Amino acid sequence: MKIKGIAAAKGIAAAKLFVIDLPQLRILRYTSDPDAETARFEQALSAVIGDLEMLRDTVSGRVSQDDIEILEAHRMMAEDPDFTSSVREMIRSGRCNAEYAANTVGRHIADSFEALDNEYIKTRAEDVRSIVYRINCKLLGIQMPDLSLIREPVIIAAKDLTAADVLMVGREYLCGFATVTGSWTSHIAIMARSMQIPAVVGADNLMRNVRHGDLAILDGSEGCLITDASEDVVREYEEKREQFIHEQNSLYELKDAPTVTVDGHEVEIYANVLPQFEADSFPQTGAQGIGLYRTEFLYLERDSFPDEELQFQAYKEILEGCRGRRVIIRTLDIGGDELPKYIRQDKESNPFLGLRAIRYSLHDPKIFRLQLRALLRASVYGKLAILFPMITTIDELRQAKAYLEEERQILEAEGIAVADDIEVGVMIEVPAAAVSAYALATEADFFSIGTNDLIQYAFAADRMSEKVSYLYQPLHPAVLSLVRMAIDGAHAQGKWCGMCGEMAGDEDAIPLLLGLGLDEFSMSEGLLLSSRKLINSLSYEKTRKLAEEALRKATQEEVEKLVRDFMIENRV
Ligand code: PEP
Ligand code: MG
Repeated sequence: MKIKGIAAAKGIAAAKLFVIDLPQLRILRYTSDPDAETARFEQALSAVIGDLEMLRDTVSGRVSQDDIEILEAHRMMAEDPDFTSSVREMIRSGRCNAEYAANTVGRHIADSFEALDNEYIKTRAEDVRSIVYRINCKLLGIQMPDLSLIREPVIIAAKDLTAADVLMVGREYLCGFATVTGSWTSHIAIMARSMQIPAVVGADNLMRNVRHGDLAILDGSEGCLITDASEDVVREYEEKREQFIHEQNSLYELKDAPTVTVDGHEVEIYANVLPQFEADSFPQTGAQGIGLYRTEFLYLERDSFPDEELQFQAYKEILEGCRGRRVIIRTLDIGGDELPKYIRQDKESNPFLGLRAIRYSLHDPKIFRLQLRALLRASVYGKLAILFPMITTIDELRQAKAYLEEERQILEAEGIAVADDIEVGVMIEVPAAAVSAYALATEADFFSIGTNDLIQYAFAADRMSEKVSYLYQPLHPAVLSLVRMAIDGAHAQGKWCGMCGEMAGDEDAIPLLLGLGLDEFSMSEGLLLSSRKLINSLSYEKTRKLAEEALRKATQEEVEKLVRDFMIENRV
């Protein structure tokens, strides 16, 4: 059976399916014998404690000490006498079943933690809920998957998958994943491209058609998951896979080549990376710099805020690994589709339009300042550029720069060295910023256009929703106009303009972006060399005319046709 979805990350994998189908537990109350229920509770409790101890032993050495401490905190919560004795007491006095008692006591404790005005204790409420869920799964005989225990190559199939889930799985075992939710620009899809593992998202019929443990083929290029494959189909995909690997290898020759058109117009191709990127491998990627280092993944993979030292080490490592090449590090971009578990934020009805990215940082300057301090300290180890996400008005840029300047002065007063050539850039992700690019460029050193968001905000179409994913139209003339405004605004002030949204690595968009004058293209590692090959085959003068013509079209389809015809005529 072929289950179709959105092709989110290229590549082909064949492995056993690991299906995550977490049920919503329905806990009912019923009257039962207190001795029998107490015994059930004790048994479930010690099984959960045993699981947690085993998990701690298996992951130790592979995850940080902080992560181990979180597991320990969970285990201690399960053993907490306040919790356990209250459950026993409720079973006895209420003559109720164990799961009802555990649930009621757990909810009571979690709510009381949450009501306190203490961030640390508030985060413990999550621990309580997680423990109670585990205990109730044991009581109800529901198997709960533990992704960090995976010890064989798997393709994960899930309704929904978070970045943290993916990070839990040992890198060597994760062959790819398929999800029901998500779109080409959702963070989980971007993550797959960055990790260079195939992924399919937005596969509506996935969960009805997969069985844990079955063999499956995942084709992230075509966007499908195949179960019950016949031998012929398996052979066909093996060939496809070999061809894919062969193409990737032949591109490797372009690793150290410049990115320059046939008529001598030079641009740069950078890589978008996550903190998990091995900085030492930078020279092998063929990238001329790092165009987007998404710091939020440092925050998302953890159970508490990464402290200054941890951040400093991470930034230092990437700066050193890139040996003097520009490294653009984006400050925290949370909110929208990703929020670390330990951040409690009032639920917003439109989180993508709410307290997200720079808005969150300016709202909680303590966290922002700490990140800026870590960045400034690391700046002496390479060529740092700091990028502020989702800037909408020049006032936000001014405020962010003021914090940066204050932190610089504090560090200098402490006698800590800070580089004096740090560039400060603005992400152009909101239409208002694109329209006011000229003004923003007076106070920014560069722009990086974030088309994933720019398109969602320009078309008012949630990037997480499969239902409106038809409105993700990077080649629409409206998008091209906004991109042009950003580039022209930067150039008019003598600044440079890059792009780190997924559009920068889209082979249909590249000739247009080149013609619009984009200076730097930043994309997932897997797309870098084929994009260089494409640019090196084009004439800049001709792409300029192509872009002019595209701006006069009415629809994305018309632009697509224009580009396709252009490629047939002009590719050298
Ligand atoms: C973008 O919006 O284009 C971008 C690069 O940022 P993110 O995808 O992380 O929101
Ligand atoms: Mg964005």
